Amino acid sequence: MLHFDEIVFGPIFSRRLGSSLGVNLLPTKGKLCNFDCVYCECGWNKDGRSDGKFPRLPEIEKALEEKMAKAVTEGVGVDSITFSGNGEPTIHPDFAQVIDVTLRLRDRYFPEAKVSVLSNATMIGRKDVAEALMRVDNPILKIDASSDGLVRQINKPAGPYSLADVIGNLRKFEGRFIMQTMFLRSPDFDTASEKALAAWMDIVRDLKPREVMVYTIDRETPDKSLGKYTVEEMTAMVQPLIDEGYSIQVRG
Ligand code: SF4
Repeated sequence: MLHFDEIVFGPIFSRRLGSSLGVNLLPTKGKLCNFDCVYCECGWNKDGRSDGKFPRLPEIEKALEEKMAKAVTEGVGVDSITFSGNGEPTIHPDFAQVIDVTLRLRDRYFPEAKVSVLSNATMIGRKDVAEALMRVDNPILKIDASSDGLVRQINKPAGPYSLADVIGNLRKFEGRFIMQTMFLRSPDFDTASEKALAAWMDIVRDLKPREVMVYTIDRETPDKSLGKYTVEEMTAMVQPLIDEGYSIQVRG
């Protein structure tokens, strides 16, 4: 399974993001997340040998500044800075301050670079977390399922979770976010059954995200019974929303 053993890694080149620095705010020895998604590339929480220690703000700042200064010295560009890593970045206790430091360093070294955060949206009920996510260029917020029951099957939240509450909190973004959804099926569930898909589309219509990214399983997953969808199938599934004018990216 994929684990990041540095706070800041890269730059890695990808066609989608260009030259990208990755930031991992979680402990380096295993996964730490308040979800335990059946498809998580970092494996199950229970298998992580997490030492439970978050990197502190000064360490993060130092790691970011060193990477950016080195890239400048070596003449390497940075097009994007992306928070993902070994779990959920917004559970870092100083997440909002980390974002402010990152934006300041970005403005100094690579003012054109876009800051993205991949988050499961569970912490956006906290004002400081929501406001920090609103300050970055690309808050990419996950809604995989259209009912609490499906969320329990797919995302396996560690604590209480209410989709209605998350949707209520996402409304405060007034569409200024990217919604990310994984379509998948297993012998026990199908996130794109007719009923689930119709409810998911209603969530999109309610929240009006500036963009929707749908994708399916790519790498190795901890649950081996999962099935993926093809790009053609997913495109057909989201076609009604495309016809209504939503910007939807489909990735296989
Ligand atoms: S939210 Fe992300 S990090 Fe957390 S379990 Fe799901 S896929 Fe893994």
